[in-house]
Amino acid sequence: MIGGATRLVGLIGWPVEHSLSPTMHNAAFEALGLNWRYLPLPVAPGTEGESLRALATLGFVGANVTVPYKSTLVTSLDSVTPDVKSIGAVNTVVVRRQDEGTYTIEGHNTDHAGFIEALRQGGFDPAGESAVVVGAGGAARAAVFGLLAAGLSKAIVLSRNVGRAESLVQDLSGAKSGKLEALELASDLLVESVRGASLLVNATPVGMWPQVQGSIWPEGTSLPADLFVCDLVYVPRETCLLRQAREAGAYGLSGLAMLIEQGARSAALWTGKEAPRGVMRRSCEVEIGRRFS
Ligand code: NAP
Repeated sequence: MIGGATRLVGLIGWPVEHSLSPTMHNAAFEALGLNWRYLPLPVAPGTEGESLRALATLGFVGANVTVPYKSTLVTSLDSVTPDVKSIGAVNTVVVRRQDEGTYTIEGHNTDHAGFIEALRQGGFDPAGESAVVVGAGGAARAAVFGLLAAGLSKAIVLSRNVGRAESLVQDLSGAKSGKLEALELASDLLVESVRGASLLVNATPVGMWPQVQGSIWPEGTSLPADLFVCDLVYVPRETCLLRQAREAGAYGLSGLAMLIEQGARSAALWTGKEAPRGVMRRSCEVEIGRRFS
């Protein structure tokens, strides 16, 4: 029952209507017996900086941050973790209250650890492997950061806007120069890049509902059967790319596992409790079936 003791977290983004995070987190709070609620918070472009202060003054415990504010909000926070600094993107905010009326707003990134944990659950260990990542936005940055931290030996990043891929490579190379390469996204370059790689990651919205016919991989060209294919898109459960992987006999991993893992880490930051991942997953599967079939 919502009342004076109800604690609030939310999702700052634009738009936020399609998000599964409210479903997933509210199911988790209920399973944990917490009088907490997770609200979608549509924040119009240009007002995102103010939204952080509003969050604090309205008594929220924290929030998730999604497209298009993961990068733009980094400089509006009072403090950020070293991984947020390296990745250049925040997906979780925690409001720390000191005395009445005083607070600081911390920025965290749970996407990279969520991504790596999802890969490992799928049976892929990045240590010593090489990857091809398509896309150069916040999710790609988190994925590449996580892969390098997990011991990946090489990654090629392909992006429609090659300048974004080059910035990613420059920002994340650090002491690991030579491990990352940026290319403009084109079918022939993608097919060539994947030869010799063991992991392909789609970090673009291509194939996401309702444009479910889209794929980063050209139709009529077979994916290598020994490739591990990870699509960060989680609606539909089997994207066109994952269907291509299945038909080629390759292993395909949906973005749902990462959604659960990054969400579980965000929830632990707010509540201090281990998140009920099974409940979170089931709530997402039911909602995907209800809303997107
Ligand atoms: P973002 O910051 O907006 O970046 C999107 C990237 O995709 C950019 O590089 C963009 O290229 C590229 N792109 C967009 N449309 C494209 C198209 N039609 N063809 C080729 N490239 C295209 O978004 P993001 O936060 O990185 O998210 C990317 C995807 O990952 C989204 O689908 C999101 O839902 C998903 N995601 C999933 C999880 C999870 O937990 N499973 C977590 C985070 C994100 P340009 O620069 O050329 O526009």
